[in-house]
Amino acid sequence: MKTARSKGTWGTRFLIRLLAVAMGVLIFWLLGFLMRDIKSIGGPDYDEIEKKYVDQTLVDRQQGVQGRIDELGREFSSKRQQQQLVGESSQNLQRTIGQLLELKRLSIEKNVSLTEAEERDLSLSLTQFLESQKANQELNATMADLTRQKLQSEEELLRIEQRIADSREPAEEEYNRLEELHRLRLAAYQLAVLVPLLLAATYLVIRNRASIYFMLFLALGGATLFKVSLVVHEYFPSRYFKYILILALLAVVVRCLVYLIRLVAFPRIDWLVKQYREAYERFLCPVCEYPIRIGPRRFLYWTRRTVHKVLPRGDSPSEAEQYTCPSCGTRLFEECPECRKVRHSLLGHCMHCGAEKPLA
Ligand SMILES: [Zn+2]
Ligand SMILES: [Zn+2]
Repeated sequence: MKTARSKGTWGTRFLIRLLAVAMGVLIFWLLGFLMRDIKSIGGPDYDEIEKKYVDQTLVDRQQGVQGRIDELGREFSSKRQQQQLVGESSQNLQRTIGQLLELKRLSIEKNVSLTEAEERDLSLSLTQFLESQKANQELNATMADLTRQKLQSEEELLRIEQRIADSREPAEEEYNRLEELHRLRLAAYQLAVLVPLLLAATYLVIRNRASIYFMLFLALGGATLFKVSLVVHEYFPSRYFKYILILALLAVVVRCLVYLIRLVAFPRIDWLVKQYREAYERFLCPVCEYPIRIGPRRFLYWTRRTVHKVLPRGDSPSEAEQYTCPSCGTRLFEECPECRKVRHSLLGHCMHCGAEKPLA
């Protein structure tokens, strides 16, 4: 028989679990840092790829035409400002001419002629007015010309941009291809670190199921498994991930089921002993649960639940006796071969001399 292991107080057990969880979290962090470092490996450079596919003279021309368009726009707005100034001054002149003509009309009515200075002002204003009108027309013509040039340049720019966009398409395709490759490479690197770790952790967890350090291995295994599933989820489309996850879960569930079924079919000896011990404590046959009616309990009736309420009356110490379950025929109390007293047949040690009996 193995000696029973001390379980420790509730507090120590709780602390051990808490520390195991903390250890799992720390391992998870550590793996996270490792994965981040792997991810920092550089990927493809889009600008480099674009240079290979897109004609650089086209790009230069695009920049030139764009510059010309900007320049034409600036010129156009400066002409427009000039035109505004010219318009204002011609309005002023118009007003002056109007006043002078009014003066002339009045003087004709009153039969007096305008002074020489006034006549000179009038003819000067008229000349200036005509000049400003002319300047205005010239400005209009220039602005029309600028607009036409700008439109032409814009059309040219559109054509160049179209050609650049056409040649950019294969560049983008190549970039996407390289980027996908890069992602797969990163996933491979990360899994190359994680999967061996996961396998080792799983092996340790399975091998050390009964070890006192089981919690340590469980924390390592849990943290690694969680990280692996995160990495797989990040790199593989969820369509595939779904299947991977389901298959992994299925494997775990089947493993647990097999374990439980085997436990029932081939019970482990310590579980069996525990079950026997509890049955003996309740004075029930460990095999069929029929009451063990010996000594003062001979004429009582009880079940697993009522055993502690049904107490035998009187305290007449009864002679220990050998006993076989009348229901299933299992031997429950027998003579000890060492001390010749009566002992439990299904427990490991004789209660009188402690002689050990191998349990099959
Ligand atoms: Zn029985
Ligand atoms: Zn004995």
